[in-house]
Amino acid sequence: MKLKDKKNRVLRDLRISVTDRCNYRCIYCMPREVYQKYDYLKHSELLTFEEIGRIVNIFSELGVRKVRLTGGEPLVRKDIEQLISLLAQNPELDLSMTTNGSFPTTRVHSLKDAGLKRLTLSLDSLDEVVYKKMNDVDQSVENAMRWINECEKVGLGPIKINTVIKRGVNEESILPLVERFKGTPYILRFIEFMDVGTTNSWKMDDVVTEKEIIATINSKYPLQPIAPNYSGEVARRYEFADGSGELGVIASVTQAFCGACSRMRLSAHGSLYLCLFANKGTDLRSMIRGGASDEEISLFIQNLWTGRSNRYSEERSEAKTNTDKVEMSFIGG
Ligand code: SAM
Ligand code: SF4
Ligand code: SF4
Repeated sequence: MKLKDKKNRVLRDLRISVTDRCNYRCIYCMPREVYQKYDYLKHSELLTFEEIGRIVNIFSELGVRKVRLTGGEPLVRKDIEQLISLLAQNPELDLSMTTNGSFPTTRVHSLKDAGLKRLTLSLDSLDEVVYKKMNDVDQSVENAMRWINECEKVGLGPIKINTVIKRGVNEESILPLVERFKGTPYILRFIEFMDVGTTNSWKMDDVVTEKEIIATINSKYPLQPIAPNYSGEVARRYEFADGSGELGVIASVTQAFCGACSRMRLSAHGSLYLCLFANKGTDLRSMIRGGASDEEISLFIQNLWTGRSNRYSEERSEAKTNTDKVEMSFIGG
C-alpha cells in the first residue's frame, strides 16, 4: 500500500521514541538547567512493547518499511532488546536505532542478537573536553569509540555517525572527525543545530551551516556532491575526490527537505506526530487502551497521513514558524 499525504509524499518511515529520558544532557537537546528536575513520563504512561509491536504491524500493512528506535536514549528503556526481538519478527522491516553509545559494549551483541539491522551513533567530538562540554555529564569519548569497533565486529553496519555542530563549541572537531573516519566504512553525518523544541536556546547565529561545514572540509580534503541513495534521504551526500569514501550533511535549517519527507513519529506515550517541529500530536494510546480494532487504528492513521501538509523547515525561512514545539527527546530524533 502507498499512502500519500496532501503533498503527494508517501508514508515510508516510522520513528519511535521509546523513552523521553536520557543519561546525557546534551546542550543542544536536553540542557541540564531544564532537564535535571523534570516531569518525565511515568512508566504506566509509556506504550508497552506489545502495544508498540501492534502499532508497527499496522504501519507495516500501510507500507512503512523503515522503523527507527530513538528517544531520549533508547538504551535507557529497560529490556529494549525484547522490543527489538518482537519487531524483528517482521522480515520486511529495516530496523535501526540511534544511540549515544554510552552503555557497556556487551549491549552491541545483545542488540544484534535481538535482530537490530542498523545502528547510528551520535558522537560530537573526538576531543574529551569538547565531548564533555556537549554531553554535559562527564562521559568520555572512549566508550563511544568502543561501540563503533564492536559494531563493526558484529556486522552491525554500515554504521552512521551523527555529529551536531554548534558554533563556538565544536566546529574545531569537524576536521579531526573527518580524518578519523575518512577511508573507513563509517559514514559521518554533520547535522546543523536545529530549532527543535523550545528549551535549547536556539539561535541562528549558533548554526554552523552546511556551506561552512563543507568549506572547512573542502579546504583540506576536496569533496564533490553525489546523488541521494533514494528519494527522501535526509542527508546530502558528498564523496572525497581521492576516492576515500563519503560523508553527509543534514542541513535541515539551511536546505529544507520537507518536499520528500516520508516520516511519521510515535512518541513514548503513544501520540503520533506528523512533523519533527509539530506542536501537538494525536493520541493513539487511549484508542488502543480503549479497545479499538486493528482496522479502526489503521483507518485513523490513514486519515492522519492523508490530511498531512506539514513542511516546517520550508516555512521557517518564510518566517511562519510556530513557537510551541514539542521537544526532540520526547518525540524522537
Ligand atoms: N539519544 C540518542 C542519540 O543521541 O543518538 C537518540 C536520540 S537523539 C534526540 C537523536 C539525534 O538527534 C542525535 O543524533 C542528536 O545529535 C540529534 N539532535 C538532538 N538535538 C538536536 C538539535 N537541536 N539539532 C540537531 N540535531 C539534534
Ligand atoms: Fe540524550 Fe541523544 Fe538528546 Fe544527547 S541528543 S541529550 S544523547 S537524547
Ligand atoms: Fe519532515 Fe517536518 Fe522535517 Fe519538514 S520539518 S522534513 S515535514 S519532519
